[in-house]
Amino acid sequence: MLCYPDRRTALRAVTAAAAGALTAACGTGGGPAAPGPVRATAAPPARPAGQAPAAPAPRRIPGQPVEIAHGPRDRPRVALTFHGNGDPATARAVLAAAEKARARVTVLAIGSWLDEHPDMARRILDGGHELGNHTQRHLAINGLSEAEAYAEITGCAQRLKRLTGSIGTWFRPSQTQYATPLVRTLAQRAGYPHVLSYDVDSLDFTSPGAAAVIRNVTGTIRPGSVVSLHFGYADTVDAMPPLLEELARRELRAVTTTELLTS
Ligand SMILES: [Zn+2]
Repeated sequence: MLCYPDRRTALRAVTAAAAGALTAACGTGGGPAAPGPVRATAAPPARPAGQAPAAPAPRRIPGQPVEIAHGPRDRPRVALTFHGNGDPATARAVLAAAEKARARVTVLAIGSWLDEHPDMARRILDGGHELGNHTQRHLAINGLSEAEAYAEITGCAQRLKRLTGSIGTWFRPSQTQYATPLVRTLAQRAGYPHVLSYDVDSLDFTSPGAAAVIRNVTGTIRPGSVVSLHFGYADTVDAMPPLLEELARRELRAVTTTELLTS
């Protein structure tokens, strides 16, 4: 089942679905990932020892539920979180726009995307951003068997570990806003104390135009919000500079998810 953070968003989504634009929450568009066996041989090579420090490991945040949808509402900060997939040129453009505005973002990478573009892991971390796990193939994880779902989580975790020295700071389930209790348990078994949801859906994966992406975010964002966005879409690239300007005008600072929740 698709879940939306509020009625307005749900109505917009229904409209988009009627137009045939909506594929799934946290879009499957641009998806890699023809279903098929996870190929162990497709994993990128190990990072040479000593090349860079290991990325931070996941950590349990005291006082937070297993599934986190937003941070504290009393501080002027937000987290922009991206589904990591699609043309790396759009990813680089989004990261560059964020960095120009001194914003930090969180990228939940799909494992098969890292297989195709292993350099993106380091690019994200080198920009001061956070990197996490968005499953190996971006299947509808809540509907998979226990073994299949666990393999989707650990498949991506292994890629991240090889590339960065860490399984990534966060796990976000694929094709759903919220994880089932089973998927939460499997994420914890794989080493992620929390599952990262969101409370603001940009719906950028429906390609509604940059102005609509900006409206979808600015209409519902508030202090502590976690915003769902996607690499791989031109609208998102176009929306980033004006969106970041509007956040600055509201004095909402875009920080990593860990900073949102811990400082
Ligand atoms: Zn996604």
